[in-house]
Amino acid sequence: MPFQFEGLSIRGRICKVTEALNKIVQQHNYPNNISKFLGEAVILNVLMANSIKLKHKLSLQVHGRGDLKLIATDYLVSSDIQENPKIRGYAKFNSNRKDYTGPINYLMGEGYFSTMLDQGDGNQPYRGISDLNGESLTHSAEEFFINSEQLKTRFCTYISDEFDQEGNIFLNGIGLMLQYLPNEKRFSKDFLTDNILDKENWAKISSSFKITCSEFIKDQKSNFSELLLKIFHDQEIRVFKENKFDFGCGCSSDKVVQTMSIYSEKDIDTMTNSRGKVTADCQFCGEHYEFDPSELVQDS
Ligand SMILES: [Zn+2]
Repeated sequence: MPFQFEGLSIRGRICKVTEALNKIVQQHNYPNNISKFLGEAVILNVLMANSIKLKHKLSLQVHGRGDLKLIATDYLVSSDIQENPKIRGYAKFNSNRKDYTGPINYLMGEGYFSTMLDQGDGNQPYRGISDLNGESLTHSAEEFFINSEQLKTRFCTYISDEFDQEGNIFLNGIGLMLQYLPNEKRFSKDFLTDNILDKENWAKISSSFKITCSEFIKDQKSNFSELLLKIFHDQEIRVFKENKFDFGCGCSSDKVVQTMSIYSEKDIDTMTNSRGKVTADCQFCGEHYEFDPSELVQDS
């Protein structure tokens, strides 16, 4: 749900991920901490996607050289406006390692944080990259906005876990994003004064944000408006309509064929198994695809 601070060039987003996140997590059965990192990436992707005019797909990926190699999430907007946007995600890691506790930079080692914005208009997708030099994904995401858009941004995420009787994890995630948009009031008469006031307000709001946010965000029972009121109790906030999203993959047989069209006949030959089929599994949703080599080899 988007919100705006009255009279200030600061806007925000708040989101809850429960159902969609658990559908993603249940498909993979990752170690708990990896599921939580994936959850954090899902929250960041949802918040970032909702802060721009996204028409097709925003992907967020975190790559590392350590035992945790990749966290990938995609947020897809359907061309059918009746349909809710879809989120999907997966992780790649060294499955021999037993213990996956610890902060993300410890597990990933040197790495980078990347986004790919594809507006589906036939233009090349826009890629942005920043180093993974923070202790947390939220810190990397903040760095990313400063480096790529010169926008001061703050994120706060919280994921709680519960376990059912069989020991399956159930995650509840919530996230907030604040962004300072100084250019939105460029044409006001008192631009200079406004600008100084804005900067002061941003410093005040963003510095208290992280403290109060983590304090109140754990209270999963509050609705968004109540939560915002608690976190920013001395500010006037205008809230906008909530947007919904679901888990969904969007993979299809046709898309796999398209992806595999880069391979030569010889490559396809090496990929063909003893049953004479080429198989592919979707990393996001686990869907299994099987083809006859003839379906994949392009006539040339
Ligand atoms: Zn899939």
